[in-house]
Parts: sequence; C-alpha cells; structure tokens
Amino acid sequence: MTVVAGVDLGGTAVNYTLLDQQERFLIEGLCEHPALAKQGPDVCLQQIADGLKFAAERIGVTLAEIVAVGLDTPGPASAAGRLSARGSTNFVHADWAGYDIRDELARKLGKPVCYLNDANAAALWGHYAIFGGNSRETSISIIIGTGNGGGIILDGNVVKGKNGFGGELGHVLIPHQSIVGIAGINPVCNCGRTGDLESLCSLTGIERNILPFLLPRYPGHELGKKELHQAAKQVRGLADKGDALSKEVFRVQAHALGLFFDEMVNTFDPDALIVGGGAIEASPEFQQWFLREVRAGMPPQREEQADIPMHIIANGDTAGARGAAIEAFKLARDGGLF
Ligand SMILES: [Zn+2]
Repeated sequence: MTVVAGVDLGGTAVNYTLLDQQERFLIEGLCEHPALAKQGPDVCLQQIADGLKFAAERIGVTLAEIVAVGLDTPGPASAAGRLSARGSTNFVHADWAGYDIRDELARKLGKPVCYLNDANAAALWGHYAIFGGNSRETSISIIIGTGNGGGIILDGNVVKGKNGFGGELGHVLIPHQSIVGIAGINPVCNCGRTGDLESLCSLTGIERNILPFLLPRYPGHELGKKELHQAAKQVRGLADKGDALSKEVFRVQAHALGLFFDEMVNTFDPDALIVGGGAIEASPEFQQWFLREVRAGMPPQREEQADIPMHIIANGDTAGARGAAIEAFKLARDGGLF
C-alpha cells in the first residue's frame, strides 16, 4: 500500500489524514496531536513527526508506505513554505521568524513535502469534493467566517502567487456603492481598505460595519440592546428564523459576494463558485435563499455564464488536512511516487 499524508498545523493542534491511490481518505474526522508551536520549531516538528507515526499506526500503515506529505499552516508564509520573518499569531516563538517549515519538515521526515496556507488548502478540498483529484477545472472558493478564507483553483492547481498571497480574496475591492439599501455606509476592513469583500462579507464585517449601520433603522430590536460582538454572533441564528433585520444583514452580505463573484467570472470564467463557512451553516432553506440572493446581487451575466454552478461546501475541521493531502497526492502522481 502507498499513501500520502495531509498535515494541518494549527496553533495548538496538528490534524492528520491519509489518502490512498484510489483517492480514498483513510481517516474520518479529526486525528489530532498537540502542536506545541509555542515552544518553537524544534519541539513542534518532532511533534508533527510523532503524531504522523501515531496516525499511520492507527490505521495500519507504516511510515515507509507514506510517499509524500502535504503540510498546511496559517499564514503569512511564502508560496514555498517559508514563514513570515515578521512572525504571526500562531507562530510567536522567535525561532519561527523566517523559518522554512516545508524544507525542514522534508528533512525531518526524509520524504517529499509540499506546502499550502490553510485557506488555500481548504479551497483545494472544496474543489476536490466536487471535481475529484484529477480535475482540470477552475473554481473560486469563499469561506465566510470571522474573516474570509478561500482560494482560486485554476485548471486544477492552487494559485499560490509569487509571495504566497494568491487567493487573498477577502481584500479584493468591490463596488459596494451599488448594493441597494446601504447608501452612505463606510465599510472599513482590518487590512485598512475600505469596501473590500471582507469588510461586508464576514462576521467582523457584520460587527464593525453592517450592524452599526442597520440597527438605527430597527428601533427597539433585541440586538440593539446587546454588545456588538455578541449581537453579530446571533445574526445568523435569527436570520434562519426569519428576523427581518438579520435577513437584511445577510442580503447585504450575499449581494457583496455577488459583486465579487461577478469580478471572478469575468477574470477566470470558472467552472464553479463555492461558498462555505459558519455564515451558511444553517437550514437548507436559508442556504438556498442565500445563494439566490448571491445571484440576485450579480450584474447580468453573459448567456454562456448565467447558469454557473454555485456550491455550498461543508468546511469542517478536517478541510485543511484534506486539502494538504490532495496537494501531496498531486505531488506523488506527477512525481511518479505512486
Ligand atoms: Zn481587507
């Protein structure tokens, strides 16, 4: 048996999956080992290696049968897997600054290792779940959470970019002035831009921009009595129950996403548009309403592109590891390791 591994390194835990030559995931759900990232790269890489051994043993695979490893981590990092010299939230130990985690892990394991940032890994998993491992299709994924994750898969391959910032879709500016009902809003994003996708289409965007703008129109609304951070978290649940203010919040988000997808349709002419994340973890009725609103928010499309498929994906805890494993699968296939 020959397999590839997916290793999803987060701040506190490493999650593993294994993928065989027939594109079957051999691990369902989470398979975690403590990351100990705070203790620096030496300790953390040993943790990754130990956890990989446990994961393999759990399903009766030897380390020798793992022919390639895909690694994903939170960014910022270069396309080749060198962590930012300025450090990051998840890699605070001084030795992580500028650390070439892909290269060092390959040395440690004695196996080929490929690298993706966690957002791009999740996008690759979403793409694979629709099109399979030998896909040559193009898709655009947006994961709506605290911010925006996601990525671009072009002809089956992740667009990483020169500096590793390919697929940072949340910070693409959109013509938000054309969204009906929010004239005069000034949506500022954490990145400093005004009017990018994330400034409206994220939990942070609800808290900082949409709710403060809309609440005065709904005097006496229960959310107006709450602190904004708490109120923002309750919007999805209320929208699912039909609350008018909360549905208006999601209509604005859907129309923002429609404007963004229109830009992507004109840039890539993709095979599919993919939406995931906490914002749409709601009833099927709500999900379908949301997708209809996304389409309603798009300017008129060419006849050939008008029925572009939109998919909702389950972007669970295993998305990063699975995306990393798919990248390793491609590495093994193209490198003749299978
Ligand atoms: Zn931004």
